[in-house]
Amino acid sequence: MTDIRTVTVVGAGTMGHGIAQVAAQAGCTVRLADSLPGAVASGLARIRGNLEGAIQRGKVTAEARDATLARISVFDDPVAAARGTDLVIEAIPEQLTLKQALFRELDPVVPSHAILATNTSSLAIGQIAAAATTPGRVIGMHFFNPVHLMKLVEIVVHEGSTPAARDAVIALARAMGKEPIVVKDSPGFASSRLGLALGLEAMRMLEAGVASAEDIDKAMVLGYNHPMGPLRLTDLVGLDVRLAIARYLEQALGSPVFRAPEILARLVSEGKLGKKVGEGFYHWTERP
Ligand code: NAD
Repeated sequence: MTDIRTVTVVGAGTMGHGIAQVAAQAGCTVRLADSLPGAVASGLARIRGNLEGAIQRGKVTAEARDATLARISVFDDPVAAARGTDLVIEAIPEQLTLKQALFRELDPVVPSHAILATNTSSLAIGQIAAAATTPGRVIGMHFFNPVHLMKLVEIVVHEGSTPAARDAVIALARAMGKEPIVVKDSPGFASSRLGLALGLEAMRMLEAGVASAEDIDKAMVLGYNHPMGPLRLTDLVGLDVRLAIARYLEQALGSPVFRAPEILARLVSEGKLGKKVGEGFYHWTERP
């Protein structure tokens, strides 16, 4: 399988609507499915909003918007959406049993050439694949939020992923205007593992009084051309989210690099979770 024409996206939430949008913009026929009533309608509304924004920035024409929307159809049943598809990309909640149940259900329904991709940000692809009758067709396609703007896609291959599946999703990611990287199925993949190591070290430096939060962030922004410093980024992601990932990676990789700094655990216990609550490493006057 090299030529992916029909893409079924399961889950129309934060990630799923964006994945459906970029697949449709790449020229694929897209089926967007969600089991929650109203979710596909709100996913479609978000896609429309993204496209309107792109028109205003001069990135998309009105004709391209209409053509993109015309390629997307909606379903409330993932099984119906997956029949005859070339690729399923699941973007349902981050629970292993939920994702396993979905792939167990879809594997016998999709054509023999079809690929089953998961947008998981932390679960082992091999464990999700184990639920499918043909685990070789299961692969990770890890998009970043917001999908229509972020360039990176981590293609995560488990031991049994076939080279054909890998090559097909690499080609699709490129057609979506993304930059794919290929990563072995390992905790935190490439992006979370490296990003978190930097973030946790920045927190330890803050704790030790090496510099202020602002100056630690400036060191990376001005010294290394990072678009944003690691502490500010932690405020945007959510301190609770980063703490959970740190605990998972410390246990999964057995490395002290991922031991959560005291300051992180303390701020989380005080409810200072970052931008979403108005305070984390910084004070935020404007809330999302
Ligand atoms: P979300 O909660 O915004 O959306 C999930 C959607 O899945 C919901 O609309 C829900 O109704 C639907 N759903 C749940 N079970 C379903 C089922 N069995 N069949 C069909 N639809 C079902 O979640 P999200 O933030 O888009 O995250 C989805 C996945 O993407 C997770 O695995 C997450 O870890 C990963 N991810 C999230 C981000 C992010 O920044 N939010 C970034 C990268 C990866």
